[in-house]
Amino acid sequence: MNSITPNLSGPDLKSMTRQELEAYIREMGMPAYRASQIYKWMHADLARSYSEMTNLPRALREELLEKAPLFTVKKVDEQVSRVDGTRKYLFAMQDGALVESVFMRYRYGCSVCVSSQVGCRMGCQFCASTIGGLVRNLLPSEILEQVYEISRLTGERISHVVVMGTGEPMDNYDNVVRFVRLLTDEAGLHISQRNITISTCGIVPGIERLAEEKLQITLALSLHAVSDKKRMQIMPVAKTWSIEELMKACGHYFEKTGRRVTFEYSLIGGVNDTREDAEALAALAGRVHAHINLIPVNPVKERSFRRPDRRDVLSFKNKLEKSGANVSIRRALGRDIDGACGQLRRRTMQGQQ
Ligand code: SAH
Repeated sequence: MNSITPNLSGPDLKSMTRQELEAYIREMGMPAYRASQIYKWMHADLARSYSEMTNLPRALREELLEKAPLFTVKKVDEQVSRVDGTRKYLFAMQDGALVESVFMRYRYGCSVCVSSQVGCRMGCQFCASTIGGLVRNLLPSEILEQVYEISRLTGERISHVVVMGTGEPMDNYDNVVRFVRLLTDEAGLHISQRNITISTCGIVPGIERLAEEKLQITLALSLHAVSDKKRMQIMPVAKTWSIEELMKACGHYFEKTGRRVTFEYSLIGGVNDTREDAEALAALAGRVHAHINLIPVNPVKERSFRRPDRRDVLSFKNKLEKSGANVSIRRALGRDIDGACGQLRRRTMQGQQ
């Protein structure tokens, strides 16, 4: 896995825990309180550069600039929805890799959707992010910067973060968990763990590991089909782990954390929207106390799936509720701006070719 993690030119201070940063600063022969100052500048004040860190001695700022350049993302493109104000950003990493992030305004606060990898190797049929395969993992600092830069650009306080952009978080597990710890740290942005959601296509060992992290975050499982046979047709990961194994892992996650798991179910017209599908889905959710989030599938240019109409979605929701399930319909934000995962990046990269 490390071969797909980039080499930076110096130590990555923004990915370090407070303790690691302190050790690094001490090694430079500086007192520990300098580490607290730098940490606060990076993670609470969202400084873009060392030059903003005005309470540090100039010599230290210069030494840091040389030894450990501070990583920030660069905005390459931005689309603003005319319908609901959703903003979609295309950010460049230091090596030029491009990732997408989305800013959404809800009644309860502002939410950012981040990418966890450049590209993805999971191969889900309906998803645009996986079409070019996996390029590399993102570092904790590169995931954090998506949130930080959006906060700087919009001037908004971000209250919610979902790891639902490009990439499979469980395929970049250590960096994603470190990202969550830094993002929720009281000396940083201090976003509530309960307001963070990690979405997985269903990598069982990752779910089992996450259950042991003592985190209060929400786990979302991209289920999308209720039989292994159908799931295998749209999600290759289903060939490795069965729905039965997934349910055991989700049950374990609920037991260990007390947090309700969310099942994401993209309704695909003619593929997974029958009455039997609804009944089986409600039964699975009931078994592990999961909440169901229905997502009308976003048509992707390269794929043939069609979006079900509003009536079909409501009728499927009705069937689920009749079977006793707890359901919400995902508000389709930013539909006019290439809302579905990976579409802005694909368009930009195709334009470059
Ligand atoms: N790899 C993770 C997170 C990224 S995808 C996962 O699979 O969960 C975030 C969510 O968007 C997943 O539920 C995914 O299945 C869904 N998704 C991807 N493409 C979509 C599309 N075209 N329409 C609707 N949902 C889509």
